[in-house]
Amino acid sequence: MQKGKINVTTENIFPIIKKFLYSDHEIFLRELISNAVDATQKLKTLASVGDYKGELGDLTIRVDVNKKKKTFTVTDAGIGMTAEEVEKYINQIAFSSAEDFMEKYKDDSNAIIGHFGLGFYSSFMVSDKVEISTLSWKEKAKGVAWSCDGSPEFTLDETDRKDRGTSITLHLDSDSTEFLEENKINELLGKYCKFLPVEIAFGKEKEWKDGKEEETDKDNIINDTKPLWTLPPSEVKDEDYNEFYRKLYPIGDEPLFNIHLNVDYPFTLTGILYFPRIKNNIEIQKNKIQLYSNQVFVTDSVEGIVSEFLTLLHGVLDSPDIPLNVSRSFLQSDSNVKKISSHITKKVADRLEEIFKNDRELFENKWDDLKLFIEYGMLSEEKFHERAEKFALLKNVDGKYFTLAEYEELIKGEQTDKNKTLVYLYATDKDEQFSYIEAAKAKGYDVLLMDGQLDTHFLNHMEPKLKESRFARVDSDIVDKLIEKDETRESKLNSGQQADLTPVFQAHLPGQEMTYFISYESLSEEDQPVMITQSEFMRRMKDMQEMSGQASMYGNMPNSYNLVVNANHPLVNRIAEQTEKKLGKKLDELRGEKTGLSEEQQLLEKAKEGKKEEEIPQSEKDQMEDVNKKLGELEDKRIEMLKKHGKGQKLVKQLIDLALLANNQLKGEELAAFVKRSVDLIK
Ligand code: ADP
Repeated sequence: MQKGKINVTTENIFPIIKKFLYSDHEIFLRELISNAVDATQKLKTLASVGDYKGELGDLTIRVDVNKKKKTFTVTDAGIGMTAEEVEKYINQIAFSSAEDFMEKYKDDSNAIIGHFGLGFYSSFMVSDKVEISTLSWKEKAKGVAWSCDGSPEFTLDETDRKDRGTSITLHLDSDSTEFLEENKINELLGKYCKFLPVEIAFGKEKEWKDGKEEETDKDNIINDTKPLWTLPPSEVKDEDYNEFYRKLYPIGDEPLFNIHLNVDYPFTLTGILYFPRIKNNIEIQKNKIQLYSNQVFVTDSVEGIVSEFLTLLHGVLDSPDIPLNVSRSFLQSDSNVKKISSHITKKVADRLEEIFKNDRELFENKWDDLKLFIEYGMLSEEKFHERAEKFALLKNVDGKYFTLAEYEELIKGEQTDKNKTLVYLYATDKDEQFSYIEAAKAKGYDVLLMDGQLDTHFLNHMEPKLKESRFARVDSDIVDKLIEKDETRESKLNSGQQADLTPVFQAHLPGQEMTYFISYESLSEEDQPVMITQSEFMRRMKDMQEMSGQASMYGNMPNSYNLVVNANHPLVNRIAEQTEKKLGKKLDELRGEKTGLSEEQQLLEKAKEGKKEEEIPQSEKDQMEDVNKKLGELEDKRIEMLKKHGKGQKLVKQLIDLALLANNQLKGEELAAFVKRSVDLIK
């Protein structure tokens, strides 16, 4: 028997590694099984080139547990190792690579994708003792037994092992007995080994017999050695892709489309990506892609490997060219990763364009579920934006779809304003903004529906890219002003009448948290009598502030709206007439008094002209103050009188409530009062 000391400088590297990778102890299983797969595939290669002339026999890799002895064993029928090879690969290389690994990652344990590179050594994370029994494929090779209890000392013996290949037996430590449980092992095999290229057997298949589950003598093979992504795309049918998707995500919705990646130059990349249906909630949809390296599961987070927006896709990527033993932050600067990432982005754009070109109807049918993904891509990646401009769709409130170019063509005629700016009208809620949408349609305008999670970001993003264009929400102004044309219409109310109407309307405007600016527009008699709008600028500022979650000067401003009164509407004219009838005389008197005072004021102003403050006699100053005060009092009196009159005008209240209702601002008690008043009015 040979005894030796493993050549490591850190005397007690084991306890450190155990602690260091505490949460990832389970990866030992992946490491041992991928070594077994490697050894098996090497043997196949030797056989295929004629170096190995013996029988290959059954190459199944076997996983066994012995609960009594607390052992976990992986056995393969691969190339095995001679004593020299154990000395070299296990004693020298495996241990020194463990040391390198420690050196590299001692400060950055989370940065390692799947902790590759620890290899065989990881078995010490869960064991008190590890044994290797192996027989090399080489002629006249002798069996070898190696054993190590975790200290740097090991033993190496010759044995009479007859089976080619290697068994690695772990004597699990008391913290790791969970790895004796069938369920746990099944779970881990499912996670790490599901698609390995060599059959892996764990226990026997079971079947139901007489109401009992019984073991058969058939091996329970836990993996699919030829997963779909490894097949040539021409051999795969649509239903195969769907079936594979269900295997990966048993509870997911059916995906929209898929892309089968198959590249072998200048890097190797295979995989299948699926476009899931995404309605809202981008965040929870992210990071479902599984990353493999030659069919060995590495991680289910491809962050940093593909573009941010592509993490919304589902599926698998398999590439041995993605470096696994560097940190995430390093990954993005790796030239292979860069190439792979831009290749995937390009393929995704190609696929979408292909479907758009070949089957526009299908593309439109799926657009609503696809939109968020495409907008996210366009927002976050210029390269993708350039490609997607051709197939990104806009949907109008009637459910029709247009490309950007088609839509521009559609609205160019009607929706260009007097400054030659093309105005894209949009609604964010078809029901809430219904009356505004109808008003725009009545004008012959088209209205887009922008009700998705990223739509407002998207239009902010598009606006500067479209030439001489702007977006305006349908309720951001009255329809005549949304797209201003050169036509003017006479107003039936003169400025004096308008000034008198303002307090009448003010008498009924609600609450403090909102501010309403009253203005008059000469609209048609058919237009609404009173409308509420909120300027595009104001609303976007508020939206942005809300999204960024920080209070800005706009955030602190009260929500302000415009109350637009249609000066040509018969009902408004009736209110003006009634006001005049009721208060006309008094208003005229007031006006008379005011005119007198105003004249006096003007004279005083004139007298002041060219004089310095100290040159004006005190008497004149007093007189001026007195006139101003009287004018102020008259104005207050006028407003009070009009407001008092307004308060009694049910019609005014009714018109304002109707405008509030059309803007979804009439709620609760006010709404109930409105309903009651309406009933009274029609009784
Ligand atoms: P890696 O697999 O990354 O090279 P490991 O520490 O896992 O590192 O293994 C070290 C070496 O030990 C392997 O490269 C291989 O030569 C040898 N080895 C490990 N397991 C087996 C096995 N089951 N059969 C044959 N050789 C093995």
